[in-house]
Amino acid sequence: MSSTTTSNVYELFQTQLKAANAPLLYHQPQNEIIVHFPVTLSSGERVLFKGYRVQHNNFRGPYKGGLRFDSVVHLDECKALAGWMTIKCALQELPFGGAKGGIKFDPRAYSKEEVITISRAFCSAIRSYIGSDRDIPAPDVGSNSAIMDAMTREYNLANHSTRDYGVFTGKSVSFGGSLGREDATGMGVKICIEEYAKLKGLDMRGRTFVVQGFGNVGSAVARLLTPLGLVCVGVGDHTQYRISEEGFNVHRLCDHVRTQRCVKGYDHGTECTREEFFATKCDFVIPAALEMQITEDVAKTMQCTAIFEAANGPTTCDADAVLAEKNIDVIPDVLANSGGVVVSFFEWLQNLSHQYWTEVDVQERLATRMTSTFEKVVRTARESSLTFRMAAFKIALENVNAFA
Ligand code: NAD
Repeated sequence: MSSTTTSNVYELFQTQLKAANAPLLYHQPQNEIIVHFPVTLSSGERVLFKGYRVQHNNFRGPYKGGLRFDSVVHLDECKALAGWMTIKCALQELPFGGAKGGIKFDPRAYSKEEVITISRAFCSAIRSYIGSDRDIPAPDVGSNSAIMDAMTREYNLANHSTRDYGVFTGKSVSFGGSLGREDATGMGVKICIEEYAKLKGLDMRGRTFVVQGFGNVGSAVARLLTPLGLVCVGVGDHTQYRISEEGFNVHRLCDHVRTQRCVKGYDHGTECTREEFFATKCDFVIPAALEMQITEDVAKTMQCTAIFEAANGPTTCDADAVLAEKNIDVIPDVLANSGGVVVSFFEWLQNLSHQYWTEVDVQERLATRMTSTFEKVVRTARESSLTFRMAAFKIALENVNAFA
């Protein structure tokens, strides 16, 4: 991929599209929806919030993608994330297009009840643009299953008490969610690591990894890798980075993050800087936080064998070029973190058919799909002398174009 300095996440997506020779059509989303909606907080104060829903492409089926709750959510970020969803769904041959959205606010600054009220008001503001056959949102950074449940209720109430449970995915299991959805993204990353190890003839036991972001995805990956004998030697989030040569007790760390809502204050390992964290000598680096984290400067310091992009867009194009030179493999986001949308598809299918599957069934179907897509990407990369990222884009674009 050509090396182009970008500081904007949408430019990063566009640069990837250009490198993959994508038709001009995919360079801008089909719809960009911005809403402003008032909410009365528990103090009685009335506040105006800003929300986004970007619908990138629907050639393969209804738009599909998460909702991010974060004070830095902005239009270009939603555009990039929506575009990657189009690529991801097409790569996995799902009957979905790509979308993304969010609310520009910090959910940590509000009570749980207020976050639910804000979510319901947002759902009401975008309800005419969504639906199980139109656009299906899901959780992303800062949102969760309880929020998906509340928005599903709001959507159905506002639509004259319809019973469309497939309008959101990532719901609680007791409210039409799928067994296995909570860990699905992490499970998909784990399967990619297993497949990569097979490809390279690596024994998993004793391999080391660091994980940036210890939320839904990062903590699940760490939890799922540990029983395979992998050792977590570094962890970091928005509050602190820590490293430990002998490895962290991942279950204790999960308990700490569950109660404290962050890594800061954990009593094992030593605190380090973000730069030291990424430069840690280990086998695998797993970014599971935000986009544009692995820049050219960071890439120059990295000492791992492979990067598994659990987050969306964590690696810049300049960094990609450096990593290729250093023979560090990058398993791209559109493949590595696609387990979440695959199981969202399963949830949607279960909602529409009113038939619910066992957790084992969900996990087996996920493993089959992840393994076969991983193999396709590896084969295409080899046959066409492409990076894994460009191979994934090539397959996905062919799959979208087939429906254009
Ligand atoms: P989350 O809100 O549960 O966790 C986010 C984590 O990132 C937290 O640990 C937070 O502390 C950390 N973080 C936030 N800002 C940071 C910063 N500036 N520096 C370092 N760490 C920071 O979110 P999540 O659902 O785990 O999503 C994480 C990533 O995975 C995102 O890129 C998301 O788009 C992607 N993803 C999520 C899913 C899913 O199913 N949830 C699916 C596919 C991709």
